[in-house]
Amino acid sequence: MSRNQQWMERDLAVLWHPCTQMKDHEQLPLIPIRSGSGVWLEDFDGRRYLDAVSSWWVNVFGHANPRINARIRQQLDSLEHVMLAGFSHQPVIELSERLVALTPPGLDRVFYADNGSSGIEVALKMSFHYWRNAGRDGKQRFVTLTNSYHGETVAAMSVGDVALFTDTYKPLLLDTFKVPSPDCYLRPEGVSWEEHSRTMFAHMERTLAEHHAEIAAVIVEPLIQGAGGMRMYHPIYLKLLREACDRYQVHLIHDEIAVGFGRTGTMFACEQAGITPDFLVLSKALTGGYLPMAAVLTSDDVYQAFYADYATLRAFLHSHTYTGNPLACAAALATLEIFEQDNVIENNKALAARMARATAHLADHPHVAEVRQTGMALAIEMVADKASKTPYPWQERRGLAVYQHALARGALLRPLGSVVYFLPPYVISEEEIDFLATVASEGIDLATREAVGPLATGGPRSFHDPG
Ligand SMILES: *Cc1c(COP(=O)(O)O)cnc(C)c1O
Repeated sequence: MSRNQQWMERDLAVLWHPCTQMKDHEQLPLIPIRSGSGVWLEDFDGRRYLDAVSSWWVNVFGHANPRINARIRQQLDSLEHVMLAGFSHQPVIELSERLVALTPPGLDRVFYADNGSSGIEVALKMSFHYWRNAGRDGKQRFVTLTNSYHGETVAAMSVGDVALFTDTYKPLLLDTFKVPSPDCYLRPEGVSWEEHSRTMFAHMERTLAEHHAEIAAVIVEPLIQGAGGMRMYHPIYLKLLREACDRYQVHLIHDEIAVGFGRTGTMFACEQAGITPDFLVLSKALTGGYLPMAAVLTSDDVYQAFYADYATLRAFLHSHTYTGNPLACAAALATLEIFEQDNVIENNKALAARMARATAHLADHPHVAEVRQTGMALAIEMVADKASKTPYPWQERRGLAVYQHALARGALLRPLGSVVYFLPPYVISEEEIDFLATVASEGIDLATREAVGPLATGGPRSFHDPG
């Protein structure tokens, strides 16, 4: 038995993996990873995989990055953790100062949580609570876009629109307003991204005009709807949304958990619209992909609505045990230093251009409806019929064939349904990008040519699922 197999057997005897139909592993090998270095992961049999999806979008400067490692080690020797209520520490103060300086003007306060979904819960609760404190009790509901994803906890799920999850857990969810997404994949032929995004805003305007008295906040994934299939839209939508939220006195929550820290080509996606949201939620790449942490930035206006004598009961009495963990803060500080020292945002332009060039030929593929890109995120949408953009039935799990082919070739590509995408660490080389494009092309040829694979009888697909 290979060492991989040994670890796999031990794993499958005791673990339950996230977002996985565990029965798939009767046929699909689980890959135990022994080590990582830069963009590469290595398993226990010595096989290497190029991490094209940054391990679920978190890793920006490679695995086992020496600079981040050193910073965490240094922190480890002085303080591993202390509770953040009533206490504080150097890394959390320094990180908060840096985040306030780095984000658009008007975001002056940082509240921490310990993962992205919890960060979303913080923003939703703060917005709701703000309106109560302001004497506007009627403002209790949230507006969200179709095809959006904001995490897995119950309120975060409520503001998402992943049909599979919404259906199963519907009795548990908050009642939200769902507005059609400006998703430019769905734009009519000959219409530009900007025109389409602008046109689609009419739906949002109508919902806000009719219901603003009941609405606390609008929550969006700026520019890229990630888990919904890397669907993209134009920054004009965010600009119009900011103006409308101001007009109707509604908060704007930007979930930049996936797109923050350079993914869209700017440090934060909201910069491309020239706006400041009322809440900016960050996680994933915040710690360079090392440790779980989320930061929720908000305005002084929001902060002041909670600032009062204790007996008024206006305080935000919300906590997560590991809030502001010093090791996570140290990883985040090291990550921000690399952004600054290495001129990352500027250098990424060449990498983004290389991703475009390396995949341009796929636009002509008979089963590719679109190759789309925003900065360092590139997606290729496989379809059953190109002219009508008819999707493959989810039961066919075409993406899974790409996933399996890529693994055999030494790449970790984990399609979202039929959407193959690259979201690589920023330390990838141009040659490695070309390699990924070759593997993706081969995989797409294979997946769209062949009949349905043996795993096709599995459960309904979920958005993190390669199938
Ligand atoms: C990943 C993600 C989340 C949830 O973050 P977790 O850390 O997995 O809870 C929320 N919103 C977006 C846009 C995400 O991509």
